Amino acid sequence: MLEEKYLLMLPGPTPVPPPVALAQAMPMMNHRGEAFTALFREITAGLQRVFRTRQPVLVLPGSGTGGFETALQNFVAPGEKVLAVVTGAFGDRWAKGARALGYEVERLDVEWGRAADPGELRERLAAGRDRPIRAVLLTHNETSTGVTNPIRELAQVAREHGALVMVDSVSGLGALPIEMDEWGLDVVLTGAQKALMCPPGLTLLAASPRAWEASDRNPGPRFYFDLRPYRDGYEKASLPYTPALALLYALRESLRLIEREGLEAAWARHRLLGRMTRAGVRAMGLELLVRDDRFASDSVTAVKAPPGLSPSAIRRTARERFGVILAGGQGPLSETVFRIGHLGYVVPGDVVQALAAVEGALALHGLPVELGRAAAAAEAVWLDALREQAPAP
Ligand code: PLP
Repeated sequence: MLEEKYLLMLPGPTPVPPPVALAQAMPMMNHRGEAFTALFREITAGLQRVFRTRQPVLVLPGSGTGGFETALQNFVAPGEKVLAVVTGAFGDRWAKGARALGYEVERLDVEWGRAADPGELRERLAAGRDRPIRAVLLTHNETSTGVTNPIRELAQVAREHGALVMVDSVSGLGALPIEMDEWGLDVVLTGAQKALMCPPGLTLLAASPRAWEASDRNPGPRFYFDLRPYRDGYEKASLPYTPALALLYALRESLRLIEREGLEAAWARHRLLGRMTRAGVRAMGLELLVRDDRFASDSVTAVKAPPGLSPSAIRRTARERFGVILAGGQGPLSETVFRIGHLGYVVPGDVVQALAAVEGALALHGLPVELGRAAAAAEAVWLDALREQAPAP
């Protein structure tokens, strides 16, 4: 097999488009000079359009988890209380991270595979505990379960309570609709290695005026990841420390690609990829982890392995025999679930190929599959979408 030619269907890192990869090879520049100002302005304007915010979007070295930690340390004072809404492994990680940083953490645990319910959040917030909840920690798209939470509704409930709404949109932003300003989200963070189609290494974060006020009042110790110097230098494109220039070149290029496609067109493409994947998986007779299709993620799908066959065996065969890289299940799902990522630089044909690999893997493991059913189901969804867009030439 040609080992270099494989299809990466992970929910991050995702495939990097060639112009984005090549952009990293540009010569370094003076990050205090005019060329940097132009680079910075183009990137931040592009990010504001993707975040749907008028607030500064800060670009920091790190990954999504670094974004969590930075957000907590800047916008929540030491020892204050937060409520973590946990719908899967990443919500759990955020809750544990907050506890490790010394915050008082309440958890609203939701069965993995289900979305958080705004009514339940309201009840929990109203339960009148001894200390006020300063922030509600939400996961927009729970990558471990393939569930998209109703962020707009959850945010509204949290705001009614007066808590800051902090949203991890690591596997959402750029792929799934999110409206930071219109939905009243106080902090939105993501990583560059998902729908933004960049190599890993950057975390991107925006905050509302309310969140910045909380930051200014926060006496907690911060230094390198104190966001105030980043905010204060934003207008002048003046960063406190040396930026990750090669990654910024890449990000500029990927934002240009998003601009060219159109953000809403990118959302529609992900919607199609999600629907194709779910149709194909079900046509093979496999079950999804998500319990209610209204909350099924359009950027990643978690699939239950059939009885008698482990998810790792399916993934190994898909990788070694079909050249398709799938993700495993996380935490308690590791023995029961595999995941198909379909975000970022992914097109409908990739989904057809990934489904064919899963179907082929099941067949090679001796399961009674009817070859081609998954691809046919996915293609039917694809064709419907194409017909809706325009009649055949
Ligand atoms: N949150 C979500 C929803 C994610 O999917 C991920 C990564 O997959 C993270 C947080 C953590 O990001 P990182 O691995 O970039 O630290």
